[in-house]
Amino acid sequence: MSKILIIEDDLSIRHFVTTLLTTQKYDVIEAGDGQTGFALALSHNPAVIILDLGLPDMDGVDWINNYRILINAIIIVVTARDDHPSKVAALDAGADDYLTKPFNSGELLARIRVAFRHVADKNSVSSASDEFLYRDLHIDFDKSRVYLKNIEVHLTPIEHQILLFLARNQGRVCTSRMIIKEIWGNTITEGDAQNLRVVMANLRRKIEPSTTQPIYILTHTGVGYRFNDE
Ligand code: CA
Repeated sequence: MSKILIIEDDLSIRHFVTTLLTTQKYDVIEAGDGQTGFALALSHNPAVIILDLGLPDMDGVDWINNYRILINAIIIVVTARDDHPSKVAALDAGADDYLTKPFNSGELLARIRVAFRHVADKNSVSSASDEFLYRDLHIDFDKSRVYLKNIEVHLTPIEHQILLFLARNQGRVCTSRMIIKEIWGNTITEGDAQNLRVVMANLRRKIEPSTTQPIYILTHTGVGYRFNDE
């Protein structure tokens, strides 16, 4: 199950990605537009889709909005360097991750590895683990407790919920909207974004060794937050 579909109209990028992934023993299928990509996604059921947001026949965000519900794959979108709104829109629509153009082979392979780890987690029966361990951080989901170097960390209920949400989505960029929706429900106001920033700052003070160089919760500027997985 290591099939990857790349939907990209730029031939040089498509060839670069296909060649790289093929040498890594992935099974790669290619599409140059959104419609063909959707047809191939249905017929080949790839585990991962690399989706360019600027397609000739449709916008990549619309592609996700239209087809996400019909497709099981992990979706990694490819965006222009400073296009934060598109990244956020794609993630909110259901993309799992993003790559910024121009990307190098190391970045691409790293994102693919994370994607396949998520595929494995989705398919694994033990994915609903009661424990989370990363570096010095230990979360006991059962007892609802968080430990840092074996010492319990006292979090507010909101900080606790956010940490658990990010940890359960380790490696995945979560937009502010996704986090706010998860924690506060559906209606999102400008105040929520400000509240989230305050809560994140407090949470980081409690768990990070350095708030300016976090090792657990990483910021993706203009996009959201990601629990580190490296
Ligand atoms: Ca394009």
